[in-house]
Amino acid sequence: MQKLLVILLVGLCLQNLSIAQNIQSPNDFLGYDIGTQFSRHHQVVDYFKAVANEIPNQVKLEKYGETNERRPLYLAYVSSEANIKNLESIRENNLKKTGLLEGSPSATDVAIVWLSYNVHGNESSSTEAAMLTLYKLLTEHKDLLENTVVIMDPCINPDGRDRYVNWYNETASQPYDIDRQASEHNAPWPGGRANHYLFDLNRDWAWATQVETQQRLEVYNKWMPHIHVDFHEQGINEQYYFAPAAEPYHEIITDWQRDFQTQIGKNHAKYFDAEGWLFFTKERFDLFYPSYGDTYPTYMGAIGMTYEQAGGGRAGLGILNDEANVLTLVDRLTHHTTTGISTVEIASKNATKLNSEFAKFFDNSNLKYKSYVLKGNSDKLNSLRALLDTHEISHENANTKTVSGYNYVTGKQGNMTVTDEAMVVHTNQPKGKMVKVLFEPDGKLSDSLTYDITAWSLPYAYGLDAIASTTKVNSTKLLERKSLQVLNDAYGYVSKWNSLKDAKFLSALLQQKFRVRFTEKPFSSGGNKFDPGSLIITKGDNKHIENFVETLNTIAQNHAQPLAQINTGFSQTTPDIGSPDIKLINKQKIAVLSGEGTSSLSYGEIWHFFEQQLQYPITSINTDNLSRTNLDKFNVLIIPNGYYGSVLNEGNMKKLKDWVRSGGKVIAIDRALGSFAGKDGFSLKIKEAQDDEKKDNLTAYADRERESSNNRITGAIFNTKVDNTHPMAFGYSDHYFTLKRGNSAYSLLDSGYNVSHIEDTKVFSGFAGKTAVKTLDQTLVFGEERMGSGSFIYMVENTLFRSFWENGKLFLVNSIFFVNSNAFEL
Ligand SMILES: [Zn+2]
Repeated sequence: MQKLLVILLVGLCLQNLSIAQNIQSPNDFLGYDIGTQFSRHHQVVDYFKAVANEIPNQVKLEKYGETNERRPLYLAYVSSEANIKNLESIRENNLKKTGLLEGSPSATDVAIVWLSYNVHGNESSSTEAAMLTLYKLLTEHKDLLENTVVIMDPCINPDGRDRYVNWYNETASQPYDIDRQASEHNAPWPGGRANHYLFDLNRDWAWATQVETQQRLEVYNKWMPHIHVDFHEQGINEQYYFAPAAEPYHEIITDWQRDFQTQIGKNHAKYFDAEGWLFFTKERFDLFYPSYGDTYPTYMGAIGMTYEQAGGGRAGLGILNDEANVLTLVDRLTHHTTTGISTVEIASKNATKLNSEFAKFFDNSNLKYKSYVLKGNSDKLNSLRALLDTHEISHENANTKTVSGYNYVTGKQGNMTVTDEAMVVHTNQPKGKMVKVLFEPDGKLSDSLTYDITAWSLPYAYGLDAIASTTKVNSTKLLERKSLQVLNDAYGYVSKWNSLKDAKFLSALLQQKFRVRFTEKPFSSGGNKFDPGSLIITKGDNKHIENFVETLNTIAQNHAQPLAQINTGFSQTTPDIGSPDIKLINKQKIAVLSGEGTSSLSYGEIWHFFEQQLQYPITSINTDNLSRTNLDKFNVLIIPNGYYGSVLNEGNMKKLKDWVRSGGKVIAIDRALGSFAGKDGFSLKIKEAQDDEKKDNLTAYADRERESSNNRITGAIFNTKVDNTHPMAFGYSDHYFTLKRGNSAYSLLDSGYNVSHIEDTKVFSGFAGKTAVKTLDQTLVFGEERMGSGSFIYMVENTLFRSFWENGKLFLVNSIFFVNSNAFEL
């Protein structure tokens, strides 16, 4: 017996030894010591592939998608041989604990830890750390894998990472220069943080507008890990940050989630203390906005955390910081490797408890609101349904006539009549806590000092009427979809105009050279009433289109776009189809400013909107080239959010004005308005805050940050009054809920059209300081000012912000195609 044991032990040791020898270290594989060079994305992928080839019993690599620039996205499942063999049953068993998969789970005590690296492309130490972490887990820390499945995403954002790394590699001197003024510490616009379309992927988890997020969520939802870590970097002078997070915590976060954050933090502290490394916890990084890599997993039952190392896009391979220390890539990745492994360790030690507490999270029988009921435009309902499907949140249709509860539009208790087209989302479902977070009228904020916007309630974002009900509303699952009628030969065809889907249909028609009209006034024909903005496609306008009816029918079917047929140009109520109130839509040529001065996020939102959503071409003009650009080739110039002090200098400003006077159209967004406000020839004016508040010099030093919150709006929802007789507001009702993201306030235009303005300063959702709110009374949200034959369009609120405020997008489309658009033809 003893002999057998010895043989077994020797055998085990040899086996361990041989495995350890088979795994190449990152240093051996890369040919340089890790942290002494930046590794390009393909090298990282190759290293993970090499390790997975060496020990397939313990590392399973899965390609889960591709980026916009066609870089592969991979996950590595790292565990013991036994666990890797049973990976699928471990996954299914875990899903049974959430209720997302039917069946009763068996008792297993395998912890599931998901480590996500490099979501911000230029916070680049973490992907290097991923390679070292993989190696150390499989060599020094094999014991932890006995009861832990570690899912590693070595790089969430490969396009951003390579943008940064390739730039750094081609720029840096050798040896690296620690002087922060050196080029290698000053990346050019747009930097490497964001993805291809310049979206911040760490703001996109809940809205899932980007391909990286969409593909990741598909796998994430199949696994639902117990712990999720998002590795980041911050400024070069900061100390390491890890859990527990700062207040505010969303009220949905459980005591267990709070407690375990502290346990994890204490475990990390042990290692940091031993090395004498500085760190901080409980400050700055809160848990409220649901679209982060820490909050989203938290609201899905995990312990979701952000770890922040000093570094980021400035740091390079080494930089001298304010405390006269040289911060190196080696230090940065060593810290991230330490917290990564410490996370796996504490998970392994608490695997049983993690499993039992995780299961409890999915009991959602005690939430205050039992059902959210939404009604409105069917396209908007469908696009919300698609978002819920991405998160695997279930939804049904109303099976009742009236619902009562909190009414989102009035902000009071009330009733709403519904048909079976209304959507019902119950909270007593596995993802019920996320439902609450996304739908609740006003999230409870334990502290006004937060890192991000404080309002996002989906009924407002999608422009739907809604009721939050404290009793469960009757519902059924409706599956039938009405099929579209095939078009017959007719005088013309009319499409409604209310949604982005309608706008996509117009975009397709224009690109296939259809001539399309829109009406500025309501009219009736063939027994149907058509609202302003309705599109009219007549046979007479489109004699140049071969097989007109068949071609139109194909486009309509492809877009699932219902069209009404009209058999005469003679309307029952004016205007007739040939009236001057029914105008031909010009196939607008659109230019967008990009480069230095523009906010890369705002430019990216516009780029993504036209390319991926509206599918309509734009031309990007670099701000450096504006003075040399022939604007006469364009009808519209969009100026994204940004600061244009030097771009819109005297020469360029004169150029813009001359072009607008001769028929051009400028659409200025958010802070771009600052370049026109108060300037000669513009009626746009900033509205200053009234200084009747307590003077700042009476504020105690310790309260200075809090005091300034009086004048702050951190993303709050207001109702606005809309002049929907103006073409910019076609398709909207007489009110619109806007997400106000800052305290900027502009007076109403006295020569121009105030298309949307704040008339009532009630805060429907989110945090807004009292001084800032008072200032907002009677201020502009969207407006148009004419100059000569052209127009300046002001969008105080950026309706494309993170691309999730679905109901705001049509204002931009209207501005392009409907507002003062017959001014000139190219
Ligand atoms: Zn970051």
